[in-house]
Amino acid sequence: MRWNTVCFDLDNTLFSHEEAFERAIQYTFQSLYKNRRNKGKIPDVDVKDWFQTFKTNCDYYWDDFENNKLTREEYRKIRFDETMKAFGLPFQEGDAKQFHDQYEAVVARFSLPFNGLHHLLSCLRQAGIRLGIITNGKKETQTEKLKQLDVEKYIPLSHLIVSEEAGVEKPNKEIFDQALHKINGERKYALFIGDSWDLDVKGAIHAGWEAVFLNTRKEHKTSSETPAAECYSFQETSDFLLESLHLKG
Ligand SMILES: [Mg+2]
Repeated sequence: MRWNTVCFDLDNTLFSHEEAFERAIQYTFQSLYKNRRNKGKIPDVDVKDWFQTFKTNCDYYWDDFENNKLTREEYRKIRFDETMKAFGLPFQEGDAKQFHDQYEAVVARFSLPFNGLHHLLSCLRQAGIRLGIITNGKKETQTEKLKQLDVEKYIPLSHLIVSEEAGVEKPNKEIFDQALHKINGERKYALFIGDSWDLDVKGAIHAGWEAVFLNTRKEHKTSSETPAAECYSFQETSDFLLESLHLKG
């Protein structure tokens, strides 16, 4: 068999993080500001318009965050504060943190599995393939997402490797090594699937794994590594895996 160990990224690989993000941000805005609006001092704002501006600010400040000019906390504060300003809504110190804490608490419940996820995991599991997830983020949030996706019957919580707990983030080789150790996988027969070229594909290949690039956002590759496959949807990825592992037909 070509691979006996298959690990996945979580956000945008097993479910649409973009959809969950949009729904969770809108829900959080609505619930936090409904009370204040009811007091009559705050202009009514269409939640969809608020989200569009918030998203524009997310994208605008993203490079500064990625280039370490802003910490995660500063990034979150500025994207929130600037959106509130744009709509003439009052805000104070601590509001951005409260908003994002609430978002973290609810985002998992908006995470819905991609069509065919359960079928694929079930086939892989039945074939005796070791399965795991390697994800950057907070342990509690990512665990909640796994539960919400209802995939624990295929991937036990002990096979969920989260950067916060691992003490190291993708693309660092060490997190891939930790995963192999935890799920008792073999590097020679290990495959990683993810939607980020730099974090997932390059990271895995440099750690000695093979990788599938699930390129849902039509990202440009920034280097010359060769993945086992490049797919543009979850369904295509699933078909590739099942065919490569002779699990179909
Ligand atoms: Mg991802």
